[in-house]
Amino acid sequence: MTLDLSLSTKQSLDLSPTRTRTLEVVDKSNRLKSTSLGGKMVAEYWDNIFTAKERGKHVVWYNGTALNPIFQAAGLEWCHGEAFSARLAAMHLEGPAQQAGEEYGYIAELCSYARTHLGCAVMTQKGITEKQSGIVGMVDQDQLASKLPSPDFFVNAYAGCSTGQQWDAMTYRVFGKDFPIFNVSLPMIWGNKKDSGYLRGTEWEKTPLYVEEQLKKLIEFIEYQTKKPFDWDALSENMSYIKRASELRLEAMALCAAAPTPATYWDWVASIAPINFLPANQLLVDYFQAVKDEIQQRIVNNISAVQNERYRVYFDGIMNWNKLGFLTRKFAEFDVAVVAGRYTHDSFWQEPQLIDLDRPLLGMAQHYLICPINHGLKIMEELLLKRCDEYAIDGIAFHSTRTCRAMTNPQHILARTAERDRGIKSFSFEGDVADAAFYKDESLESGLVAMLESIDQQRAKV
Ligand code: SF4
Repeated sequence: MTLDLSLSTKQSLDLSPTRTRTLEVVDKSNRLKSTSLGGKMVAEYWDNIFTAKERGKHVVWYNGTALNPIFQAAGLEWCHGEAFSARLAAMHLEGPAQQAGEEYGYIAELCSYARTHLGCAVMTQKGITEKQSGIVGMVDQDQLASKLPSPDFFVNAYAGCSTGQQWDAMTYRVFGKDFPIFNVSLPMIWGNKKDSGYLRGTEWEKTPLYVEEQLKKLIEFIEYQTKKPFDWDALSENMSYIKRASELRLEAMALCAAAPTPATYWDWVASIAPINFLPANQLLVDYFQAVKDEIQQRIVNNISAVQNERYRVYFDGIMNWNKLGFLTRKFAEFDVAVVAGRYTHDSFWQEPQLIDLDRPLLGMAQHYLICPINHGLKIMEELLLKRCDEYAIDGIAFHSTRTCRAMTNPQHILARTAERDRGIKSFSFEGDVADAAFYKDESLESGLVAMLESIDQQRAKV
């Protein structure tokens, strides 16, 4: 008998215990089944966008704020920059677009949503003017990243981050300044006056009125571009669907206060695309009804989203789209149910009572202003503690999103507030929205284990 020395050597030299363990462990996560319907709806949405020009449709490119109900009422097809970048990253297809962006001169430290989408713009533009050129030309033009239809115009309405405006301004230049751009200014809600707080105070009462006026001007701009009168009834109808979908989503989220939780943050991440940019219609409402029904049924049947839930964690930071499935399994491996998060729970039509169907632009303006990176610290602290109380949170995972300073900036102070006011432990780990190169597994695992040990010690004292 001969010994297979190459095998035994390889085994003894494997110094990556994390990866080995992760591959060997049983997946303890139990994701909702109903969210797969959302995935199908999103895929159909993008397939439809790719044929917009053949169907003679006007196409608008935008990023940030959910202006899509306005675009839908105007008969446009809309392409949301972050959404497309996130989709490419989730499918691990972001490489060609990022390479194209790099060739054009965008450095890796630039927001990876913007970098990916700018790369798509370069590839789309190259597709219009020439098929072959340098690295970009070497990329197969059939790649998903190059399939976006070129815009007829741009609309920018970005809250809380100056990258958004610069990103659209650069895209405008990539297209040779041939297509018009309209900017909506969304002021920061500083929240530092005496009467300020979340959805209250004079600053809150006045600022949405300023934004509402700009949305009216945006509609005039769209009417000029499309040469068609805007359909105000269609806007109210769209907002009625958004309002109902949002109510169902929030009711379903509230059910996750149950312990063990029937659904996790990762399920809500899977539901971001539907609420954020899919067409507002009955299908959207049906989708969130199905999600809520499944969660309710899980509670009845005592089915939990994480086997043996022992810790309830809040996630702060934008999603790492390259790692959705991986992170779902990773946290579950440590008996951690990630129950709620700033990105999922404090964005995306999260205050449906503000939507007035007789005056839809005001409610829209209000939602655009409560983007979770558009508040001062006082409001962020208020929201974080509220969520921690609602979901009986034991710990916080701060995703230190490398190229999104807007989300990452206040995290150290938020960590201190949670510890000081509620005794809640936390840790940070490195990653990014759409660039897998910034994710550090060691940073996640060591931080998570240390936090769980602190929670155990804290519990032992009680
Ligand atoms: S840096 Fe963050 S907030 Fe700003 S555009 Fe990028 S992802 Fe959005």
